Amino acid sequence: MCKHILNAQVAIRAPCCKQWYDCAECHAESQSHPLAKTTEMAFLCKKCKKAFRKDMTEYDESDEYCPHCDNHYVIEAKTPQAVLAVEGEDARVDARMLKDERTKQNPTRSLFAMDFTDRIG
Ligand SMILES: [Zn+2]
Ligand SMILES: [Zn+2]
Ligand SMILES: [Zn+2]
Repeated sequence: MCKHILNAQVAIRAPCCKQWYDCAECHAESQSHPLAKTTEMAFLCKKCKKAFRKDMTEYDESDEYCPHCDNHYVIEAKTPQAVLAVEGEDARVDARMLKDERTKQNPTRSLFAMDFTDRIG
């Protein structure tokens, strides 16, 4: 089970070691050699469990679907890091914005207050 891409629809056969992996990172974790590049990729659809090949040099939109079951396997990868980053960053951005607003407003307010005091005084 791939822990990098949570919604992997296909496994890809590494051309170098002929092993099936959900993603390049899975290959990197279990192999010490770099993943070989190939123009003809072998896929295994996780939905219908059938294998198929695609020529990556002639790859177009219709090739994003499994030829056996029409499963759209080229989808935006959902990675655990991305999910965490989105949630974490949102909270941090909010906190930073609130803080910035406060630090920006406070000196302005004290300046005005001083101005007023000066004028009143
Ligand atoms: Zn390999
Ligand atoms: Zn993986
Ligand atoms: Zn399929």
